[in-house]
Amino acid sequence: MADVFTERDLRVLTALAETFVEGPVDGRVAAAAEALEAVVDPNQLAQLRLVLRALDSRAANLVLAGRPTPFTRMSADDREAVLLGWAGSRLGQRRSAFAAYRKLFTFLGYADPDAAADDPRLVALGYRPDDPAVPTELAAVRRFAPPQPDADGWSTLDADVVVVGSGAGGGVIAADLSAAGRSVVVLEAGPFVDESTMPRREVDAFAQLYLDRGLLSTWDGSITLLAGAAVGGGTLVNWMTSIDTPEDVRLEWASDHGLEHVVGPGWSAEVAALEAELAVAVATHIPPKDAVILRGARELGWDAAATRRDARECGDCGSCGFGCRRGTKRSGIRAHLATASARAARIVADARVTRVIVERGIVEGVEAELGEGRRLRVHAATVVVAAGALRTPAVLQRSGIGHPALGRYLRIHPVPVVAGRFDERIEMWRGTLQAARSLEFSETTADRRGYVIESAPGHPGLLALALPWEGRAAHAALMADSAHLGPLIAVTRDGGEGRVSLTRAGTVRLDYRLDESGVATMRHALVSMARLARAAGAGSIVATGTPGAWWHGSRGESFERYVETLRATDFRPNRASVFSAHQLGTARMGADPVVHPCDPWGRVRVGPRGDQAIHGLYVGDGSLCPTGLGVNPMITIMAMARHVGRTVLADA
Ligand SMILES: Cc1cc2nc3c(=O)[nH]c(=O)nc-3n(C[C@H](O)[C@H](O)[C@H](O)COP(=O)(O)OP(=O)(O)OC[C@H]3O[C@@H](n4cnc5c(N)ncnc54)[C@H](O)[C@@H]3O)c2cc1C
Ligand code: SF4
Repeated sequence: MADVFTERDLRVLTALAETFVEGPVDGRVAAAAEALEAVVDPNQLAQLRLVLRALDSRAANLVLAGRPTPFTRMSADDREAVLLGWAGSRLGQRRSAFAAYRKLFTFLGYADPDAAADDPRLVALGYRPDDPAVPTELAAVRRFAPPQPDADGWSTLDADVVVVGSGAGGGVIAADLSAAGRSVVVLEAGPFVDESTMPRREVDAFAQLYLDRGLLSTWDGSITLLAGAAVGGGTLVNWMTSIDTPEDVRLEWASDHGLEHVVGPGWSAEVAALEAELAVAVATHIPPKDAVILRGARELGWDAAATRRDARECGDCGSCGFGCRRGTKRSGIRAHLATASARAARIVADARVTRVIVERGIVEGVEAELGEGRRLRVHAATVVVAAGALRTPAVLQRSGIGHPALGRYLRIHPVPVVAGRFDERIEMWRGTLQAARSLEFSETTADRRGYVIESAPGHPGLLALALPWEGRAAHAALMADSAHLGPLIAVTRDGGEGRVSLTRAGTVRLDYRLDESGVATMRHALVSMARLARAAGAGSIVATGTPGAWWHGSRGESFERYVETLRATDFRPNRASVFSAHQLGTARMGADPVVHPCDPWGRVRVGPRGDQAIHGLYVGDGSLCPTGLGVNPMITIMAMARHVGRTVLADA
């Protein structure tokens, strides 16, 4: 049990957990307290504790809720009324606090560490966790154990190249450089998880495989972000949809950012080679949640097709977000990291890089924490930072490497969510994750940015977090009926941008704001998804948010009036829901030294005008993308990383 929270705090947390979702709460409260203490910035944690104290104070409740009763002594109805008051408050801080506790306790309410497979909450949904068989041949990545530490706890290694982070970008660079005969060390902050140890339960998957245990959000709590954080990074947990970078995006990168390598036949050849390495193929199983997209689009005359994905001949289990126990997915541990490992790259898990060592403008290696007081120093003349767009700027900044644009221009592909209710069972947690997509609105127009419509495969915890909470009974009823929900998401090309920065406590802070075009895009996408769901036969529809925006066809409600409501959706923080699983742009590549922290070949620039270089230092991940793409970015990131790998070889 965490020790930041007092007994009194824990009593209020218990009351909150009970108010959000019914059922035994001890495990949920312990997990919540432990997770908050482990991943939340100390300042934010202090704010969240203040909220607990305010909720438990007679005086504060008299002022805030008109009742001189501590939250823990209120009736269930009164507690609910207090929370709904916070949900709809005009004060942003109260909405933020509500959002933080709502997400935590609805997630843990259904991804409960204490829940058995026959738990009534899961039985009501008809949810059974998958238990696919582990293959006889496990992923062929050998873990490398650093040598014994010296008396001060330091282990030391030598290499030609250190790659920081083992995700989409880091994996490709490690494979390519080790294939070229370089001695490569890959340092990954997260654990190594192969098929035999892959989690089966949602709660364990989030704790082991996701950045900040899946509790990641913007500083104001309004945007929920998911990113992978184990060996394989995002590739281990992602949904495998493989789409090439749209041509108009590449033309913009060439003309506005000076990236010549992204245009011309060389790019297509690069993507084709990567697709072959990942065994990308068209999805052959179309589960009900994706049939919704194909059916609705056919009715409307819109574009839609089966997706291409990096797994073959599977589609019955749907655990791809928990890794892939069958080993069918061509994630890093099956593809590029396996190649790197076969070519003698040393892959060290649970090694968090704290500093890039730079002496007189020349890279000399990195330092990493291995846990339990152990540290690792790797001497290398080349360092490629590929810690993902949310962490790469922090690794560089903590090393004293400064550039005015480092951490800026964060793009997140903001995602709005709509769910249609269908007569048939959809069971969104089962089957190929994103088997179909519609590119009907993928081009940017004068009044909005481009977006792709896809499905979202929610398991109960994520689903409970995403659906509107309009009271405990209403949420439980919605969850109990959720097997009939067909979820739609729109991956939008950002209208707006954000920033990654370090807090005083040294933690990473994320901020993001939609701009006018971003809001117009999100509203447009909500309307399109509602039309698609209706055309596919949905009898009722909800656009997720606080509160949700509902249409009930069976009650004779006007659909066109609903569309007008969606066109006016409030996207101020913590109103309509916004999600992100794609993060890009925080160390972007380009020709202008002032606004691009990396040159067009991935070399890191420094200094107030960006006109100095650090010899031997490169970035190799999604941070490099100069803008958002509006489509799933894995293939693009890998192609950018391959380009950086070539630069490293040419420079050496
Ligand atoms: C749930 C989910 C679904 C997705 N679905 C799709 C999809 O269907 N199609 C698609 O194209 N894309 C998808 N994506 C996005 C895609 O997976 C990511 O954009 C991609 O993996 C990002 O690659 P990257 O190299 O930039 O970073 P990542 O893959 O995130 O890798 C960064 C790695 O660096 C590690 N790291 C961080 N800090 C340090 C440090 N200090 N020291 C050492 N290591 C560190 C992290 O633990 C992580 O493993 C999805 C992502 C998620 C989370
Ligand atoms: S559906 Fe996903 S988790 Fe299941 S075998 Fe296929 S890739 Fe793996």
